[in-house]
Amino acid sequence: MTEHTEALPPVAFVGLGNMGGPMSARLVRAGYAVTGFDPVPEARAALAAAGGRSAETAAEAVRKADVVVLMLPSSTVVEAVLGDPDVVVALEAGSTVVDMSSSDPMSTRRLATSLAARGVTLVDAPVSGGVKGAVNGRLTIMVGGAEDDVERLSPLFAGLGTARRAGEVGAGHALKAINNLLSATHLLATAEGVLAGERFGLDPAVMVELINSSSGRSGSTDNKFPNFVLPGTYDSGFGLRLMVKDMRIAVDLARELGVASPLADSAVALWERALAALPDTADHTEIARWAFAAAADREPVTG
Ligand code: NAD
Repeated sequence: MTEHTEALPPVAFVGLGNMGGPMSARLVRAGYAVTGFDPVPEARAALAAAGGRSAETAAEAVRKADVVVLMLPSSTVVEAVLGDPDVVVALEAGSTVVDMSSSDPMSTRRLATSLAARGVTLVDAPVSGGVKGAVNGRLTIMVGGAEDDVERLSPLFAGLGTARRAGEVGAGHALKAINNLLSATHLLATAEGVLAGERFGLDPAVMVELINSSSGRSGSTDNKFPNFVLPGTYDSGFGLRLMVKDMRIAVDLARELGVASPLADSAVALWERALAALPDTADHTEIARWAFAAAADREPVTG
């Protein structure tokens, strides 16, 4: 019996930034013909250097693609790209748009309905694992969409990480926003705890190491503190602005669904203060440095 290997579908990749850059390069290495677009010329040049084809516009990238991957900052940008009249014409019926950005699930549902009217399928597939996970192909991919659409995309996802279907379209984006709300909340809580411990006389590195084998363990103690906060590099490659965007998506979703989230609301308010105080390009791990500085002003309470 001859083994049947299906030809890999042509892929368009729109958004070649910190995440989209390494992800598109991995798809090239997995054998996909990838045509990419990003307004930043250096990002397009990097894809070309990795063996992909660079396009001058999103519409040019999308033309003739069976699968269109988006790795964009937000739903606002996703809506702008998919609403661009040239993209609308270029996007062929029968193609699939895979939004791997961390987008707003309500917007995703609306987009899925309008694309479906033109015979285009939308699957949401946001990721966790950071730039390192994107480079190593170790992302966790949270997928929302019809079962057979998700199944069809499994070879593509396999080149990027481990995919798991979370539910119908929008489910991946809802889960991702909630994940990042938790991640942001415990990053800030860890900063407050570590500062108090340090004032008491504890070594922050020892604290983090022991917490990592105790019940206070989290992605913040396991990854962000040892790799970006304690060494003072604050360079994870995930912007603070993007984290605040994700937190807002999650609390807005809770509000829309009638779920009270007082702890999350306080966390968002604090992150928004940091966003206003820090440069626009600040890495999200800078929240810890900001919290250290804010708390350091306080005098110890005596008596
Ligand atoms: P980034 O800012 O590095 O990249 C976004 C890219 O989109 C930029 O290169 C930008 O030029 C491009 N872009 C902006 N407008 C565009 C348009 N109209 N058409 C085409 N390209 C356009 O951001 P990133 O860190 O790569 O994040 C991308 C998405 O992934 C975001 O939704 C983010 O929340 C999510 N995410 C990021 C990380 C991380 O660690 N960086 C991890 C998980 C998820």
